[in-house]
Amino acid sequence: MIGLSHIVKQFGDNVVLKDVSVEIREGSVTALVGPSGGGKSTLLRCINLLEIPTSGTVRIGDDTLEFRPGHRVATKAIQQLRRQTGMVFQNFQLFPHRTAIENVMEGLVTVLKWPDAKARERAMTLLDKVGMAHKLDAWPATLSGGQQQRVAIARALAPSPKVLLCDEPTSALDPELAQEVVDVLGQLAREGTTMVIATHDLRLASKIAHEVLFLEGGSVVEKGPANEVFGNPRHERTKRFIATIT
Ligand code: ATP
Ligand code: MG
Repeated sequence: MIGLSHIVKQFGDNVVLKDVSVEIREGSVTALVGPSGGGKSTLLRCINLLEIPTSGTVRIGDDTLEFRPGHRVATKAIQQLRRQTGMVFQNFQLFPHRTAIENVMEGLVTVLKWPDAKARERAMTLLDKVGMAHKLDAWPATLSGGQQQRVAIARALAPSPKVLLCDEPTSALDPELAQEVVDVLGQLAREGTTMVIATHDLRLASKIAHEVLFLEGGSVVEKGPANEVFGNPRHERTKRFIATIT
C-alpha cells in the first residue's frame, strides 16, 4: 500500500540514498535501522516528501508521484500525498503556546476545517488512547518528555493518516519514559497502525517491528522479517551491527 521504488536522494554531490526500494504492507511496522548517517531519516522524509527525492517513485494508497531531475512536481500533489502521513519527531515539536488538546486539534481545525466540537472529541479519544486523558489542558512545558511524545503521537494520528512515520521517537528520553512511548507504539502496532520507525533502539525495533530494513551508506544492506534479521542476520555487516548492541 506504500511503495518506494528506486529512490535516489542527493544533497549536492553527496548521494545519501542510492536506489532504495521498499514495499510497506498495510498494518505492518517497519523499522529502519543502521549506523548514523546511513540515511534512515532521509528515507523517512522522502516518504512524506519533507525531502524531495532526486529520482524515484513514492506511492501511498492511490497516489503515486514520480520524481526525476529537472522535473518539478506540483506543490499541491506533494501536499496531498503528505497529508496521508503523520510524523513524530525525536524532540516532539509540540506547539508551545497550545495545550495538549489544542495541539491535537490544531491540524483538524486549521487544515481539515473540522468544527471545534468534532475536533475536540477526536482529540479526547486519541489522548485517552495514549494515556494522556488526565492532561488535556496541560501546557507542553509542564509535561515530561514521555508525556509530550505521547501527545505528539496523538497529534500525528488525528487526521487518520495511512502511515505513521517516527524518527527516533525514544532517543530524547530516559529509559523509563522511553518505555511509556514504546508501550504506546506497541499498542498501536497491535491495533494495525501502519508505521515506519527510524531508530537506534534495537530493543524498540525488535519488540514492535514486523519488518526491518538495515541501511548503510544510503543502500539497503539487508531487509526482511524482524525475527529473521535480528535472530539470524544473513550479512556480515548486519551481524556485526546487531552484535555490538545486544
Ligand atoms: P542518524 O542515525 O544519525 O539519525 P541517519 O541514518 O538518519 O543518521 P540521515 O540523517 O538520513 O542519516 O543522513 C544521511 C546523510 O545525508 C548524512 O551524510 C547527512 O549528512 C546527509 N544529509 C542529511 N540531511 C541533509 C541536508 N539537509 N543537507 C545535506 N546533507 C544532508
Ligand atoms: Mg536520523
